[in-house]
Amino acid sequence: MKRIYEDAAYRTPESCWWRDTAAPVQQPQLEGDHRSEVAVIGGGFTGLNAALALAKANVDVTLIDAEQPGWGASGRNGGFCCLGGSKLSSTLLARRFGQDERSVWHKAEHAAVDHVNALLMDHAIDADRHSAGETQLAHTAKAMRDMRASAAETAASYGVTPDIIPKEELRQRGLSGRFFGGITVPIGFALNPAKYHAGLVRAVQSIGARLFGQSPALSLHHLGDHWRITTPKGTLTTKKVVLATNGYSSEDLPDWLRARYLPVQSTIIVTRPITPDEQARQGWTSLQMCYDSRILLHYFRLMPDGRFLFGMRGGLRATSGAEVTLSRKIRKDFLTLFPEWRDIEITHEWSGLACLMRRLTPFAGPVPDHPGLYAAMGYHGNGVAMGSYLGARLADIVLGRQPDGPFPDFLITPPNRFPLGSSRRMLLAPAYAAATVFDR
Ligand SMILES: Cc1cc2nc3c(=O)[nH]c(=O)nc-3n(C[C@H](O)[C@H](O)[C@H](O)COP(=O)(O)OP(=O)(O)OC[C@H]3O[C@@H](n4cnc5c(N)ncnc54)[C@H](O)[C@@H]3O)c2cc1C
Repeated sequence: MKRIYEDAAYRTPESCWWRDTAAPVQQPQLEGDHRSEVAVIGGGFTGLNAALALAKANVDVTLIDAEQPGWGASGRNGGFCCLGGSKLSSTLLARRFGQDERSVWHKAEHAAVDHVNALLMDHAIDADRHSAGETQLAHTAKAMRDMRASAAETAASYGVTPDIIPKEELRQRGLSGRFFGGITVPIGFALNPAKYHAGLVRAVQSIGARLFGQSPALSLHHLGDHWRITTPKGTLTTKKVVLATNGYSSEDLPDWLRARYLPVQSTIIVTRPITPDEQARQGWTSLQMCYDSRILLHYFRLMPDGRFLFGMRGGLRATSGAEVTLSRKIRKDFLTLFPEWRDIEITHEWSGLACLMRRLTPFAGPVPDHPGLYAAMGYHGNGVAMGSYLGARLADIVLGRQPDGPFPDFLITPPNRFPLGSSRRMLLAPAYAAATVFDR
């Protein structure tokens, strides 16, 4: 597999809190020659949702993961099941794709959250849910003015009434940090991603799909009317293939994918449980999931067991030196926003890869010139809901049906290549530098 970060970015995290709550169930390795109607490569939310929808339609599905299903971003994210998936603002979406497409996109964002909610209910998955929608907190007075100004547009886009929280009310809402007010959009909830993932695995297996771990697809060949996937100890021959590898994709699986996706690191710390007294000292007692108004945003939430999760963008490199620098930076940012928690021990810290696309919108559709090959990827750090939803909608497309839910046409437009080939992550350096200046 040809991947663009240092090896450390592809190692199993040593200290990820979710693994302490729901370790990934070990699946057997694919050995010998297997046949299936559809193969899914990648066992995160996208792959499992595609497999689930296909298996529900009585399709014979086999899913393989290079490590174990849930090993990638799906097993190590912040658990914000929320709107999002594109990096384009609402204005740019309309300018680029038209008002109608923008409107369908906003419906798809909402449908994605509803989709996960329905899965949790239908499959009785207890994923430690909390938070009524998502709150954005202003990091400057100007950001607060901008939020107020955009509230009407948010209301129109999603058909809900956002709740504006003036600075003076933050403490009484249990949201006291260095913020200038906030806005809550009442769509979405927080969850334990490992428990959601484990529930999906159970659901997929209960209807007959086969899962394999430690089975990286090393090559993918189209032979006549079928595909042959080779893994270290076996082969899988199928009519159709779903590629669900997102930020952990390889440049050569297939060659078409080279430079069409850009993995980006994101990093999370989790504290020991913070006692009610310690929470009151900081003035942060709410279980609301929040993020701040920076371009390089921080995302954070107090979890039901009192632990606090705090995340932000990761480094451009995955060397040990870069990890030390990042570790210092995330602690510094955490204490800047929550200074009363300087004595609270940080027990877990890990990173993972999300995925950007050049057009700043996800891709979900057939891979051009590769009959029977499909892919969904590129949720711009918001794939808990959108990855789940597009995995299921991609299954509709694989079945030859119209997507069963809002699905803007731009999603099936094949992604363009980034410049700089395998060095393309260096494009992030000037973008991060400019954002850092802007965020002050
Ligand atoms: C630290 C962090 C925090 C995040 N927080 C949030 C959040 O709070 N809310 C939100 O909405 N999104 C968040 N995201 C993004 C979200 O986690 C991802 O968008 C989503 O999980 C992507 O799911 P996926 O199934 O497409 O990919 P992944 O979960 O990354 O799964 C890809 C899988 O493909 C496998 N694979 C790769 N190559 C091969 C191969 N050749 N053969 C077989 N298998 C292969 C990998 O082993 C991996 O398991 C976060 C991401 C990170 C990294």
